[in-house]
Parts: sequence; structure tokens; C-alpha cells
Amino acid sequence: MEAFPEHTIAFTGLKDGAHRFTYELDDAFFKATEQEEYVGGKVAVTVDMDKSQHLLVCKIHVDGSVQVHCDHCNGLMDCPVKGDQRQIFTLTGEEGDEGDEELVSLPTDAHEVNLTHYFFECISLNLPARRIHPDGQCDPEVDQALSQINIEHEPVPDPRWEALQALKNNRS
Ligand SMILES: [Zn+2]
Repeated sequence: MEAFPEHTIAFTGLKDGAHRFTYELDDAFFKATEQEEYVGGKVAVTVDMDKSQHLLVCKIHVDGSVQVHCDHCNGLMDCPVKGDQRQIFTLTGEEGDEGDEELVSLPTDAHEVNLTHYFFECISLNLPARRIHPDGQCDPEVDQALSQINIEHEPVPDPRWEALQALKNNRS
């Protein structure tokens, strides 16, 4: 997604040590993610940055909710999201170990770093995979229609499922 200029931290002007930055993400942020699943949201972000000569250690904390469609009734719901992610930027120009995703090497002449992408990552990683309204809050009409379909489908076994089962039995 495109970087938000307000998520840029000009670190060269900062003293070594601890710094805190706070941001409010709203619908505009979720629209910019271009992820259809995220309709909107409101998330508070705190970045605790520990700056030293060669490293920026950022602890990103997100807390809020993202508006998504319920997996069950497809109605809109506010899905709570809360979590942390650590991101380390090295300022020496050396590449970190491959596969070490939390370590990112910045060019030696870099004087600022943008965090939009990491906010997005932190939110996506901390959203539950299954998003369903709390009990009894699904759209009652859709709920009823769905239970109807389930009943109608139950007596007919899916032929693909049976084929898979047969394959599994042969192998074991
Ligand atoms: Zn629902």
C-alpha cells in the first residue's frame, strides 16, 4: 500500500534513546490498503522506538477495531484487533540474515523511515482468521436462510469428498 507521509519518522534528528510516537488510523487508512475485506476501522497505534547508533528498534502496538464482513452472515461487524510487532531497522547498510523478517536494512544515507506498511502488517497478523458476530448477533434473516440450506444439503454426500476419502483409505 502507499505510504502515508504522516507515518514517516525522521530519525536522524532524534537523540539516541527511547522515543514514542502515536497515530490514529481511520477509514482512510483501510481504504488505502486496497483490501476489499477491510471496510473501515479505527485503530490506535503506538510506536516505541529505541534509537542507537546502528539500530532502530521499533515496537509497534495496535489497539482498535476493523470493520469487516462476518464470515457467517456477511453483515458488517467491528472486529477487535490488538497486538504487537517488533521491527528492527539496521543503519549500517548490512543485510540481516535472510528469513529474519523483523530485521530490515536501511540504506546508509537514509534519514527517515516510513511505517505505514508495518502498521498494516501488524493489523493483518493480529486479526482473527475467522470473523464471526458474537452469538445471536448475526443477521437473523441470513441466519435462517443458511440453516435451511444446511439441512437441504446434509443428506446428499459430496462425491468429491467420497473420492478423497477413498483415496485416503487406499493409502493407509
Ligand atoms: Zn454475522
